[in-house]
Amino acid sequence: MHHLHIETPYVESRALSLQSGRSVWLKMEALQPPGSFKIRGVGLKCQEAVKNGTSRFISSSGGNAGIAVAYAGRQLSIPVTVVVPETTTDRAKSLIKQENAEVVVHGASWQEANALAVSMVGAGDTFVHPFDDELLWRGHATMIDEMAKAGKAPDAIVLSVGGGGLLCGVLEGLHRNGWSAVPVIAVETNGADSFAQAVKAGYPIELPAIQSIASSLGARKVAQQAFDWTSRHSIRNVIVSDKQAVKACESFILDHRMVVEPACGAALAAVYDNVEEIRAFKNVAVIVCGGVTATIDHLKKWGATDA
Ligand SMILES: *Cc1c(COP(=O)(O)O)cnc(C)c1O
Repeated sequence: MHHLHIETPYVESRALSLQSGRSVWLKMEALQPPGSFKIRGVGLKCQEAVKNGTSRFISSSGGNAGIAVAYAGRQLSIPVTVVVPETTTDRAKSLIKQENAEVVVHGASWQEANALAVSMVGAGDTFVHPFDDELLWRGHATMIDEMAKAGKAPDAIVLSVGGGGLLCGVLEGLHRNGWSAVPVIAVETNGADSFAQAVKAGYPIELPAIQSIASSLGARKVAQQAFDWTSRHSIRNVIVSDKQAVKACESFILDHRMVVEPACGAALAAVYDNVEEIRAFKNVAVIVCGGVTATIDHLKKWGATDA
């Protein structure tokens, strides 16, 4: 089957390896055509929907998930409606519109936009959730298929967690490739740490609000499946500050000439800053999840504040 995602490079980072004192490999999901790993799962979800005769895709994400759905719709010649809250930036809206999707602005928060999006789903329409869907996870898992095909298992995999869709996909990929013993380092920013707090509480708690600039990690509650994995796989939680995440983005521009969101900078920061949880590992792989809603000007502005 032809996929909507591309096979991305899996390369050793000399700069990060030297900085961190271990071998660091990067899975370059930032190079996906819509700018993040999301197209892997979203692409599979949308292709399955086309097989079932769908007439429209509906999304409620003003971020990389909405952009991926819009991209998938244009590739598959299916109309797309993305409902976004008033807080969504002009940049994000224009990135969705440039894929020919319809943007509907509604509500002060994602909850309200999502409620409208769900109410709009009619017969023949397909709602595409940003992170909580088995097909998304199955699609995201293809990044681990590619890494496994490339060779030896890393000692640990470092990734960012928002709602936990990426985490569930990576874990599915590890288990279907015989890499189930590879621990996962799950990184969030302070103020968007719904996964770490769920682990601490013993159930998927809901944060009262998101207080982090890493908007793509801003799910107030993680998927139940992400929480359930914690009893079946070695997962270590790491929380970094917004400042660490932004600094990692800045370093990554110098080292790899690529702009990524702070959501991705969070995972990179765990390695740049050599957090305690990675020190035992000689060879780590980082999922460079990407993200296109932050520009170099945003990074400069955030970098100049004391957040
Ligand atoms: C969606 C996203 C995440 C978080 O993924 P989840 O599946 O919500 O955990 C991290 N980084 C970027 C760039 C994203 O777009």
